[in-house]
Amino acid sequence: MRMGSSWRWQLTRAIRLALRWCWVCCPRRASKGGGFVKWWIYCKLLLKSLYFNSQNNSDTLLDCVFEPVYWIVDNVTCWFGVVFVSLVILLTTSVVLIVYLFVLPAILSNYSWHWVIWHLVCGHWLLTMVVFHYYKATTTSPGHPPKAKVVIPSVSFCKKCIIPKPARTHHCSICNTCVLKMDHHCPWLNNCVGHFNHRYFFSFCLYMTLGCIYCSISSKDLFLDAYGTIEVRKDNCRRPPFRPPPPSDTFSVTTAHKCVIFLWVLTSSVAVALGGLTLWHFILISRGETSVERHINPQREQKTVGDRKGRHSALCASAKAF
Ligand SMILES: [Zn+2]
Ligand SMILES: [Zn+2]
Repeated sequence: MRMGSSWRWQLTRAIRLALRWCWVCCPRRASKGGGFVKWWIYCKLLLKSLYFNSQNNSDTLLDCVFEPVYWIVDNVTCWFGVVFVSLVILLTTSVVLIVYLFVLPAILSNYSWHWVIWHLVCGHWLLTMVVFHYYKATTTSPGHPPKAKVVIPSVSFCKKCIIPKPARTHHCSICNTCVLKMDHHCPWLNNCVGHFNHRYFFSFCLYMTLGCIYCSISSKDLFLDAYGTIEVRKDNCRRPPFRPPPPSDTFSVTTAHKCVIFLWVLTSSVAVALGGLTLWHFILISRGETSVERHINPQREQKTVGDRKGRHSALCASAKAF
């Protein structure tokens, strides 16, 4: 299009809009109170014509409003993944060290030989399983759809990766890639949980829960002893002035008490929290669902039922017409 004709077309459009505006606001045409209503409807129409999209709904609006929040969460989770993995390694190492330094010597000195063998075998087996499954869950790729131009059975198209998505594939906004049979993005693994590492994730949760329960039960007597000693020491601090002070514990004894209390509180808390998560994933696995599908399936079922009802009522109406 030439510049002259474009300029004329823009001018014509502006004049037509101005004339239409005058027609709406014309006092002769506007009846009493009706002018404002027409003017309001016209303004609403103009505004809607600027933003109208047949795909718009409340979900799209919420997504747009929370887009900056999603961006911050995605990026922070991506960076904090390294911190979370370091935290898991640090806490697990500290628990193992405390067990070797304080709990195992108490077991060796207080239990009979067959209980000692049971503790040694059970404890080391749980430790091996936790380390192995955590390593595999962290390092195994969850599985991605092929990016080469191959014909694969797909049900939809990823707008971000520009590739066809096979069934049960979802886009992870933190990894910025599509993941096969995606369950969720786990910050404690700094990895997505998907088709190829789901079993490692679940096994890690299961063995970590069992390991925490084992540590919690094994160190219960030591914890009660350490807690009681600390409480007695607090009472002695509030003694009457005429009583002599009790002999103070050595630094190693005080450290041992604090370490045992830390071990018991940490393992008991993790056992409860991770046990709940493991149970939830066990239920999902028994239902053949992932966490993502558990979230989206009820919405899809509602939509399917609504579509079915709509088709049924349309068929009934056409049958009555005939
Ligand atoms: Zn994608
Ligand atoms: Zn991910």
